Amino acid sequence: MKIGVYPGSFDPITYGHIDVVKRALKVFDKVIILVSTNPNKNTLFTKDERIDMIEKTLESCLDKIQIETSAELTVHRAKTLGATHIVRGLRALTDFEYEFQMTHANRVLDKSIDSIFFMTDNKYSFLSSTTVKEIAQFNGNLETFVPEYVIRKLHEKVMKTA
Ligand code: ADP
Repeated sequence: MKIGVYPGSFDPITYGHIDVVKRALKVFDKVIILVSTNPNKNTLFTKDERIDMIEKTLESCLDKIQIETSAELTVHRAKTLGATHIVRGLRALTDFEYEFQMTHANRVLDKSIDSIFFMTDNKYSFLSSTTVKEIAQFNGNLETFVPEYVIRKLHEKVMKTA
């Protein structure tokens, strides 16, 4: 079985992430979504909230995905989970330099785990979780960026923290 590991913060999951997962599922038998629990990264949503939103929004392919958390190096976790590749998404320009550095660092750490990149549909290529959180704070329309369930969770969270 060919397994890819897709690491990220998913704070929250967006249509960009969902697009990457669906493209990866055409190449891998299983995609393990690795939710980062790095304590140095400040997230709006807790680990459990982020996992819940991933489960709800990827309901249609739950048989082919697995959700795990990770607070260790992705290459190490990928190997333990039996994956051959790290899956990442590439957006317009901005992601390239960071991903280039990460891929080389990961290869030095473990050359048996390679990285594979998917480009999303053009309409998501400028979309990030950060943008989504900013729009939510100002009560903007999020329909084209995140699924309905995530919109509801964002509104609840923004109201709670306001
Ligand atoms: P991280 O904190 O690791 O950047 P993110 O959850 O923001 O976590 O992103 C995880 C991965 O998904 C990264 O590879 C990122 O480039 C990719 N990604 C996020 N949004 C999009 C998008 N709109 N289109 C393509 N890839 C995306």
